Amino acid sequence: MKSILNYIDGQFVRGTRTFTDINPADGTVIAEVSEADAGMVDSAVQSARSAQGGPWARMGVRERATLLYRIADVIEKKFDCLLAAEVADTGKPVSLAAKLDIPRAAANFRTFADLIKTAPAEAFQSETPDGKQALNYAVRKPLGVVGIITPWNLPLLLLTWKVAPALACGNSVVVKPSEETPATATLLAEAMAEAGVPHGVYNVVHGFGPNSAGEFLTRHDGVNAVTFTGESRTGAEIMRTVAASVKPVSFELGGKNAAIVFADCDFEETVDGLSNAVFLNTGQVCLCAERIYVERHIFEKFVDALKQKAENLRIGAPTDTATQVGPLISAPHREKVLSYYKLASQEGAAVITGGGVPQFGNALDHGSYVQPTIYTGLKESARCVKEEIFGPVCHVAPFDSEEEAVALANDTKYGLAASVWTSNLKRGHRVAQAMNVGITWVNCWFLRDLRTPFGGVGLSGIGREGGMHSLNFYSELNNICIRL
Ligand code: NAD
Repeated sequence: MKSILNYIDGQFVRGTRTFTDINPADGTVIAEVSEADAGMVDSAVQSARSAQGGPWARMGVRERATLLYRIADVIEKKFDCLLAAEVADTGKPVSLAAKLDIPRAAANFRTFADLIKTAPAEAFQSETPDGKQALNYAVRKPLGVVGIITPWNLPLLLLTWKVAPALACGNSVVVKPSEETPATATLLAEAMAEAGVPHGVYNVVHGFGPNSAGEFLTRHDGVNAVTFTGESRTGAEIMRTVAASVKPVSFELGGKNAAIVFADCDFEETVDGLSNAVFLNTGQVCLCAERIYVERHIFEKFVDALKQKAENLRIGAPTDTATQVGPLISAPHREKVLSYYKLASQEGAAVITGGGVPQFGNALDHGSYVQPTIYTGLKESARCVKEEIFGPVCHVAPFDSEEEAVALANDTKYGLAASVWTSNLKRGHRVAQAMNVGITWVNCWFLRDLRTPFGGVGLSGIGREGGMHSLNFYSELNNICIRL
């Protein structure tokens, strides 16, 4: 059977225990994964610490940027191999992973290589009230060793979204990918080696969260900062763990994102856009819209149109290039999503479409599939309207005024993303600025420029990633004051 190993100090290392990597499309075993115990996590952190004193530390910014460009080139060279691994691990349609996940991994390295070369330095010519003159300038230094913990929904994309800026700033990293999707983090280790990244700069430890590699890593005294993407509850646990050592944290957490559809929107474009926003990656993108508020006099028309879209989506094998909806990530996650489908009915929802499990009559019946689902008629206090489900599902509700729509959209403990659909320019700006979230799209969704701030408020996270925000998280500024 195929083995997925840890990567420590430039070597692929077997653990004492293993767990299985399952293909969610048909339940078959893909590989045996070596779990890192506490000792191996310690070795990985020590190797990353040693790298901070080696050739990596002496590399100038230009040389580091060149190395990042090389990593991007190797990712492109290994495109097919990374694509196959990502599709098998996640069950996402191959057409999606080929367009989004793997190209973004390369783009992440190129973006942060570009940015670190041009990152401005702060400088002030200073004068005190009693006339002393000085020059202040700040130099950017690495934090040291960064612990990186990532989820399963966009494994390589989200991992490299953190590794690239961390390396750009001169840090070394220990990454702990999700236990559900371990393959591409280890393949990235091969790419790092081929690109010539010095030993110890990129380390991978596999395992779970509590009392396993995730917790061992966040608890480790040799880790200077922790960056995490995943569930809000896990973020809270990690925060408790790192509190004792006052490590900086960056958290990208869950969401219960709203979309607001005004009657003056471009109807076709809006239905297309929101069909994508609800069902892309089987609804397993933190930015997906699970609540849609529609101006009352187009409500019925909108629900009908979205229903048509949902029912025309092609559900199938992830490896089929025509597939638009694959399985959920795992059998336990399917149980969770189906429990919300059941709860929605108990809470009084009208099922517009879906609400169950598709039948294939072949091996896919062993996969973690659910039907794309649309509900209406729930109270705003219903758990299905309040809690993140993380599946191909949304609730659609009518509204009568702009004020009401804004209040409904903002009535959540989360605050990651929102979208506003209108052809009224002033209203687009006004409503977007009233959203209590980190990112609002107007007449689009998931349109990303990697230089812009990305993150959430409330339960959706702490801090911003993207562009200079990432560079600022992954570096310490040392201000130097020279008396003139
Ligand atoms: P999760 O929180 O269950 O797991 C994420 C990672 O944390 C995994 O690697 C896991 O092993 C590890 N982990 C779990 N407990 C830990 C602990 N106590 N200490 C250290 N590590 C621990 O999340 P998931 O189910 O993999 O991902 C889905 C969630 O991620 C959803 O809530 C989604 O909204 C969120 N997400 C957010 C963003 C964003 O950018 N805001 C992006 C993608 C996903």
